[in-house]
Amino acid sequence: MPNIVVIGSLAYDSIYTPSGAAERALGGSSNYFSLAASLYTKVRVVGVVGEDYLATDLELLTHRGVDVSGVQKLPGKTFHWAGKYEGDLNEAQTLVTELNVFETFSPKLPEKYRDSEYVFLANIDPDLQMSVLEQVKKPRVIACDTMNFWISSKLNSLKKVIEKVDVLLINEGEAKILTGAPNAIAAAPLLNKMGPKAVVIKRGEYGFALYHDSHFFILPAFPISKVIDPTGAGDTFAGGFMSYLAQHSGDLSRESLRNACIRGSMLASFTVQDFSIRALLKLSAADVEKRQAEYRKVISL
Ligand code: AMP
Repeated sequence: MPNIVVIGSLAYDSIYTPSGAAERALGGSSNYFSLAASLYTKVRVVGVVGEDYLATDLELLTHRGVDVSGVQKLPGKTFHWAGKYEGDLNEAQTLVTELNVFETFSPKLPEKYRDSEYVFLANIDPDLQMSVLEQVKKPRVIACDTMNFWISSKLNSLKKVIEKVDVLLINEGEAKILTGAPNAIAAAPLLNKMGPKAVVIKRGEYGFALYHDSHFFILPAFPISKVIDPTGAGDTFAGGFMSYLAQHSGDLSRESLRNACIRGSMLASFTVQDFSIRALLKLSAADVEKRQAEYRKVISL
């Protein structure tokens, strides 16, 4: 089975949405990514947690066959993010970002991770993303994500990462900030020029826009009437997307990229139906397949 190595945050999140609140709930880009991708393929996580991180939270990953031998436990507290959604559920307002143990973290990949063919640089400090990338011997497909926090604090490092990846996955809001373009359609070709072969702009309830080889492919999200908590939708999308590519030998053809986006989009539609990672814990590949069959009816012409 192909292996994906992922670097990203392992976090406790405090989230406030119109549906309620979840205080110090399990989150972080790596957790969402891994729980999604591990429905289909092997995942190896690189990251750091603090002394407060519960062993049972790490076990949620190991129960799914995820390799966590690249996760270090350091003195101090786990990364903590607090975010609020008001009105527009597609855009989170960051209230607090406490990097904590990530401030001094220097990733060192276990030897067995270095042969991984697929690399996902989930949302985290771009210097850490680059360090992981440099330690993987011969990656077949590299993709990355980021967010406004890193665009404003580490733009030069981030540009160097984006230059090296095959696929950039990014939120519409962040795509606009990074390029200065007024919308996703104007931003995608500009992001493409920064290096990646393909650009996927995630648009919340409006779905995604894939830009590749001068062509757009745009689809809406699966219709969900009650979005409870959009946190992690982007990372879940990325987990589905990368798992599809890993299962298809890293095929970056138009058709393969389209299918990878559809899988990502299907998985993300489950994540938003509950707080934290709860929906992903209950999810099976059969549930995803069933939803995808319903979705095909929604988008058929
Ligand atoms: P998403 O909603 O998919 O964009 O990602 C949400 C996750 O990103 C949350 O679970 C947070 O813990 C995590 N997160 C928020 N800010 C950062 C940051 N600056 N670096 C890394 N991860 C972050």
